Amino acid sequence: MLAAFRENLIEEIKTRVDIIDLISEYVPLKRRGQNYVGLCPFHTEKTPSFTVSPSKQLFYCFGCGVGGDAFTFLMKREGLNFSEALTRLAERVGINLEEGEGAGIFKLRREKERLYQIGALAARFYHLILLRHPTAAQAREYLQRRRVSLEAVRKFELGYAPDSPRALVDYLKRHGFHPREIALAGLAASRAPEGSFDRFRRRLMFPVKDPAGKVIGFGGRALDNSEPKYLNTPETPLFRKGHHLYGLHLAVAGIRRRGKAVVVEGYLDAISAWQHGVDNVVATLGTALTIEQARALKRYTEEVIIAYDADAAGRAAALRVLGVLADMGLRVRVLLLPEGKDPDEFLQRQGGQAFQKLVEEAPPWLVYIIEQVAQSYNLADPSECVKAIQKIIPYLAKIEDAVERDNYVRILSRRTGQLETAIYEELHKFRARQMGRPRRLILDGDIRDSQGTAVTTFQGPEVYLLCAYLASEEWADRIEASLGPAFWSLPQAGIIASAAKELREEYPGLEGEDFQDKLSKKLPPDALPLLARVALKEGQEPLEPKALEQAIKSIQLKKWEDEMQACRRSLSLAEAAGREDEVKALQTRILDLARNIKNLKAGRGET
Ligand SMILES: [Zn+2]
Repeated sequence: MLAAFRENLIEEIKTRVDIIDLISEYVPLKRRGQNYVGLCPFHTEKTPSFTVSPSKQLFYCFGCGVGGDAFTFLMKREGLNFSEALTRLAERVGINLEEGEGAGIFKLRREKERLYQIGALAARFYHLILLRHPTAAQAREYLQRRRVSLEAVRKFELGYAPDSPRALVDYLKRHGFHPREIALAGLAASRAPEGSFDRFRRRLMFPVKDPAGKVIGFGGRALDNSEPKYLNTPETPLFRKGHHLYGLHLAVAGIRRRGKAVVVEGYLDAISAWQHGVDNVVATLGTALTIEQARALKRYTEEVIIAYDADAAGRAAALRVLGVLADMGLRVRVLLLPEGKDPDEFLQRQGGQAFQKLVEEAPPWLVYIIEQVAQSYNLADPSECVKAIQKIIPYLAKIEDAVERDNYVRILSRRTGQLETAIYEELHKFRARQMGRPRRLILDGDIRDSQGTAVTTFQGPEVYLLCAYLASEEWADRIEASLGPAFWSLPQAGIIASAAKELREEYPGLEGEDFQDKLSKKLPPDALPLLARVALKEGQEPLEPKALEQAIKSIQLKKWEDEMQACRRSLSLAEAAGREDEVKALQTRILDLARNIKNLKAGRGET
């Protein structure tokens, strides 16, 4: 029992702790692509090789090889054992362990359950006030003016927070909730001498629900000039900033059926879409789309259409998120609204079908970027034109599929009037700058760059093979067919590979983040640094069949050379002892090995 509680507890802590927050307290981190980097706290360095991944919640230092999760970090940094780190992290995320771990986790479950109840009651309370109470007249007028139907008000359970210091707090207290719990739910604050008071007042209330439809937080819009215009629930055990999407619970079925999700900025855009029969629309909550929100969408679809306002702010917001989404492997398109319009206005005037048509016609994100950039430069001026192309190149470099990339180069060439060859040249220059010197694999050990110095971020074909092994079952089979299951010389690599194999047998077809999640849980702590290293490198180094073959060859060669040395040692012993049969057998084997090695080095590779 206790072991299960402990596992639950660790799981709960992992979902609540943010590794970026934690590590930022020790190391200043800077964003770089999908990850954060900083100067390693475990060794002395001048350029940052310490990398933290917010989506994977792992860290790894490419300089000294330390890596792992939040627990590992705290243990290493503070010299704690696992239990001590557990206690520290539990405190950090507000889990009380004093009554023992079992009681603690029980309390936690119960606490969450209570918070869901508070959310449901509060939504109900605000909703009834909006529907009936005289104090909500202004809110009802506002909704009428925005043409929100009564049906939509009911479906989205819109509400109104009255202008009264303790209306909700008193209501919840009457239902048996303690002011401390109400504060924990983010619905009340406390100040001496008044005590608890409502956080939301005189606001139109939009309950934010999880995909199962349970209330986890609120967005409140001011109806007068109060600041801020939008007030959200603060961080609570249920509500995390930038993690949730408004309207997702009502859109899941539509997203699945249509195979795509449309992302808008405003609550009313999402409601308006639903009202007009467009049932696959979600809204971000007053922020640009975050990685976490994109991950949430990726559970339901591979295709996302960004439908932000057709003004400068909306376009800037779209540009910020496009690269991030594409990096996550989502197909991304951008919906083009008439200038100055937001999705709600368009839907009100043109209707749901016209909106659907815009969704169907939405250009791929890179075409959108090309158009945006082209419009902001005077392309008739050659130097401006070069600048425009240079602005687009970093996005173009993200496209891995060659056919797709050629297509975009053609579009860019047509739009700017520059030759395709000139664009390819810029692209190659950019790539060379980005990667440092071009790398190649050589047979006798590490992967080196053209100058022959080992590239520290990519030590050895074995790590490369482990990457490939985890990336797909097909490659794992290919590797085992060539090298057998037991070739790993790094013991942790062998452990990780066999855990991956078991997992694939247990859950056929499991892949991506689910696979990685389950895998990391299966592993002993000392295998985590290597997994973190492999996971963080994923997406930075291309996995391709040719490089895979090279890495396999390189390992094969090492295997044969090791065997050759062992044979030579045995041979001299056998000769000294006069064991003639053994001498003969060893000589034959050595000749075989020598031939194999020679063939492999000559690139023929037969055994
Ligand atoms: Zn380091």
